[in-house]
Amino acid sequence: MNSLLKLQQLDARIHVCHAREKEIPKQKTKYLAVRERLAAELKEREQKVKTLDLEQRACEGDIEQKKTAILKYQQQLNSVKKNEEYTALLHEIDTVKKGILQKEERIIAIMVELDEARARLDVDRKRIAEEQKGLDKQCAEIDAELSEAVKQRQVLEVERPAIAVHVVGDLSAKYDRLRKKYPSGDVVVPMKEEVCSGCNMLMRPQIVNEILQGHKIHACQHCGRLLYHPDNFTEESAGKHEAASGVEA
Ligand SMILES: [Zn+2]
Repeated sequence: MNSLLKLQQLDARIHVCHAREKEIPKQKTKYLAVRERLAAELKEREQKVKTLDLEQRACEGDIEQKKTAILKYQQQLNSVKKNEEYTALLHEIDTVKKGILQKEERIIAIMVELDEARARLDVDRKRIAEEQKGLDKQCAEIDAELSEAVKQRQVLEVERPAIAVHVVGDLSAKYDRLRKKYPSGDVVVPMKEEVCSGCNMLMRPQIVNEILQGHKIHACQHCGRLLYHPDNFTEESAGKHEAASGVEA
């Protein structure tokens, strides 16, 4: 019985390790979200610069086209005969010139915006790189914590056979079956006040007596957990009752 309790203690610790191994990686999820937000932020800043740059080139191209158009109109001025046509061409040239002025004003505004956007991109790029470095560090810490938990579990698993070997006969199989049925929590439980502390059901008087005598290990007829009386299994009595390992339900 003592070996059984030791095995149960060890299995409980292994179970805790398994649970930690499942929980630890979840901490990384929030860091991944921050990482994505930072990447999006950087992309937005870069896009802003790119868009302004493109608009500036478009304005410059437009101005070139307008200048070519003006040259063409000026050549046409030399060949027109009618006054109205001449006036109309002059009006056209004037309109295109105004258009050029507007584009030139826009280019000046863009250059100011570009300076600001580039400066902001520089600052943000540095800040984001710093933040990402911090995230990398935190993720590395989580990875280290996880591998530590795995290592701890592996150490316990190595210890297990040496303890399990003392749980003999059908008791071993019975324990393994109960472990599967109740993966967390105890499967070897004390009887308290004639009640199974696993399922809180009352035991039959005869079984209570036999458990009290400590000669047999009984399984609870309600939940199947193995029962013992705490007084019978103190540290000092270790080994004394090992012989009485037959299971009776
Ligand atoms: Zn029970």
